[in-house]
Amino acid sequence: MTAKKVLIAGGGVGGVVAAKKLSERLKGKAEITLVSDSDYFYWPPYLSDVAFGSMGPSEIYQPLSRLSERGVKVVKTKITKVVPENRKVMTESGDLGYDYLIASLGSVYDFSSYGLSAGMHNYTLEGALKMREGLSSFGGGKLVIFAPEMVHRCGMYPFELASRLDVSLRKRGIREKTDITLIHPFEKPVQPLGREISGYLEERFRSRGINYVGGAKPVGIDQAGKKVELEGEEVPYDLLVVIPPIRLPPAFRESGLTTNTPAGEWTAADPSNARSPRYDDVFLPGEHSMPFLGLPAAGVPVHFLTLSSAAEVAGEVLGEPVDPQGMSSMVLLMDLGDQGVIVGCDLGRRENSGLAWAGDHYEYKEPGLDWVGKCYSVLTSPLSRFAKDMVYSSFMLTSMRR
Ligand SMILES: Cc1cc2nc3c(=O)[nH]c(=O)nc-3n(C[C@H](O)[C@H](O)[C@H](O)COP(=O)(O)OP(=O)(O)OC[C@H]3O[C@@H](n4cnc5c(N)ncnc54)[C@H](O)[C@@H]3O)c2cc1C
Repeated sequence: MTAKKVLIAGGGVGGVVAAKKLSERLKGKAEITLVSDSDYFYWPPYLSDVAFGSMGPSEIYQPLSRLSERGVKVVKTKITKVVPENRKVMTESGDLGYDYLIASLGSVYDFSSYGLSAGMHNYTLEGALKMREGLSSFGGGKLVIFAPEMVHRCGMYPFELASRLDVSLRKRGIREKTDITLIHPFEKPVQPLGREISGYLEERFRSRGINYVGGAKPVGIDQAGKKVELEGEEVPYDLLVVIPPIRLPPAFRESGLTTNTPAGEWTAADPSNARSPRYDDVFLPGEHSMPFLGLPAAGVPVHFLTLSSAAEVAGEVLGEPVDPQGMSSMVLLMDLGDQGVIVGCDLGRRENSGLAWAGDHYEYKEPGLDWVGKCYSVLTSPLSRFAKDMVYSSFMLTSMRR
């Protein structure tokens, strides 16, 4: 019998978690290949540490080639299209076939809307290095963080950023010369996480003089006039940091794996294991399924859903019963610069799971996981910040180790 081919698309959070888990269960029993357009696994949350100057670029990545020690073949090329009806992905170096596909291709940033290219950001390494220069030469003035849309990478990040900037500018002795303003579509900070955490941040922002412009309806950036234009309001800036909205990776376009949601076109996936409702050999635990599932576009849910996808694939390849894992809770970690917050969320599944294949199209219903308003703060303390650092550095160090 020929060995089953398991293809992992993407070498980021989901791709590396899938490679690790599958190599533990299937080494020698399946051909595991990971395809990525980069030679390296980057840990995106550390891009903010690069921008703040607390980490160097070489500390935020690991070579994917280390996965070969685990029996995973790594192919560096760009995927141009996923073609599930033919069980293949098309790449710039030819087609790759599979028996099972686990795809975690992240998302693409939209800097072209709202004139966002006028601002600094830390969403790429190049951007983080420029932001580091911009922040270190900033001597005070109006510092504005502008998030025009709700769906961006890491729902908590703009709020962490505002707080970290406040702490950093205090340390530099220029906080009194600086106004910090965060513009965001949520009426209240981190609103979907519930009143407890939202209220905590509201009070923190108020007591530390961080202006929050919530429920903002963005028009765009007037670069010449140095102001962010909102419906009925203009916010002037000296230094602008932008939070780009995210969009579907182009490789999924016209793949039959997507659906239109109120937040745009995204991949559709089962909430318990990220299996495509249309192709049962395709799993989509990447960030590109989070808007469909009603979960934040963040590494934590990607990580846990990928573990469920890998368990399903391993069980089917080995012919062993699969213990359905699903996600019943989620722990989010916030770094506020001097404090951290550990946020626990209970996840429940709604009766209407949102998965409806109507023969030739998906009918979008409600998101599958009802997590809104069921989060609570576990620990608000400098220790929580330390815990976040420990969790993230151990992920970086152990993600590819045998
Ligand atoms: C500044 C910042 C802070 C963050 N903070 C947090 C946090 O505190 N907590 C949290 O949970 N999340 C956080 N996130 C979000 C988190 O990093 C992402 O949600 C997570 O990385 C998504 O995982 P993924 O595997 O879908 O995508 P990624 O990790 O981005 O991986 C995608 C992979 O696919 C590859 N790829 C993409 N397109 C192609 C293609 N066409 N062909 C081949 N390869 C391709 C990429 O090179 C990459 O290897 C943060 C992100 C940023 C930028």
